[in-house]
Amino acid sequence: MRDSVKLSSGRSYLAIPGPSVMPDQVLQAMHRASPNIYAGELVEMTDTLPADLRRVARTQHHVAIYIANGHGAWEAALSNTLQEGDKVLVPASGRFAYGWSEMAEALGINVEVMDFGLQAPFDLARVAERLAADKAYEIKAVLGVHTDTSTSIRNDINGLRAAMDEVGHPALLMADCIASLGCDRFEMDAWGVDVMVTGCQKGLMVPAGMSFVFFNDKAAEARARLPRISRYWDWVPRANPEYFYQFFGGTAPTHHLYGLRAALDLIHAEGIEQIWTRHETLARAIWAACDRWSEGGALAMNVADPALRSHAVTALRLPSPRATDLRVWLEENLGLTLGIGLGMAPPDSAEWHGFFRLGHMGHVNGHMIMGLLGGIETGLRALDIPHGAGALESAAKVLAGAPS
Ligand SMILES: *Cc1c(COP(=O)(O)O)cnc(C)c1O
Repeated sequence: MRDSVKLSSGRSYLAIPGPSVMPDQVLQAMHRASPNIYAGELVEMTDTLPADLRRVARTQHHVAIYIANGHGAWEAALSNTLQEGDKVLVPASGRFAYGWSEMAEALGINVEVMDFGLQAPFDLARVAERLAADKAYEIKAVLGVHTDTSTSIRNDINGLRAAMDEVGHPALLMADCIASLGCDRFEMDAWGVDVMVTGCQKGLMVPAGMSFVFFNDKAAEARARLPRISRYWDWVPRANPEYFYQFFGGTAPTHHLYGLRAALDLIHAEGIEQIWTRHETLARAIWAACDRWSEGGALAMNVADPALRSHAVTALRLPSPRATDLRVWLEENLGLTLGIGLGMAPPDSAEWHGFFRLGHMGHVNGHMIMGLLGGIETGLRALDIPHGAGALESAAKVLAGAPS
């Protein structure tokens, strides 16, 4: 192993699955004095945001903005549609399904989790069977995490809707797109999603601190039937504000709004379809490299079938404690930070050090991905971790558009 010379000075690269890399345009848009929050530029600019957010989510319906992280959006979505004693069904492909479930339980909602393990998507036939058995329609909502960021499984939300329709179940379909929006194809209206939650710090490329709940008229009707809802989470004034402050239930998140405006400009300039294709191509380059590495060693992608993998995050295994060794070495020596494993093993166990994740969501391009992969190749070599050869060449072939 090379000693003493550290190569970490220079621009660092945070390749974790959120927060993601922030574009210079977003940072520059935020670098300004506090604006007037009563009239003028900020107020006018904010009026342009909902329509552009709807375009990203592919919906004609409503959007409420919250000054909160994704956990806040989780709670907002539940608070506007369900009440204590209601039941929800949560098919699970990883840790984040449990996170949303725990939020629901804390609100007194009765949660039934269908766990499909850490390496498989929802089994839609089993979900349909469970819904068909619910003759009394006790299940009021199905909560589906699109990309579970812990396992990097991407679930078929369109298929989940089809499974619900097949048995004629009236429950609301709620989707968590915090890790997928602006990365993987998502079509709220075409896929029949009633409520969608997302955050701003992943595919939307803004610093953490804002989140969004999109909802259609069916969900709005569920809201209207509730006997009460906490004033702060209520999505009605946020989605239809009469006064500017009602967008946010108080002072506007001034600088986040400027950052979001810049991010939406970038997204629409590139085009959402092109963004999905970029993410897919970059993900394929990563997988091609991982395939080579795993041929000569124990590195393995968590999800075997490429069709089930997220295009925004890749969960990997490397025998404990090598995953942690690799992360630590890369950060200290190359200025490259990879994501920790999440939900794959208890945090205080030895196995915990056998998992890591790569974030490739949002503001990432070909040279960054080649740098990420070259960094990992360097770390594997420096730490004498057995790995197959040709990873970078395989990745380059994908990015060059060559037949693999
Ligand atoms: C990041 C993430 C969350 C949590 O978002 P926070 O902003 O950390 O609260 C929830 N669900 C998914 C799928 C995520 O990727």
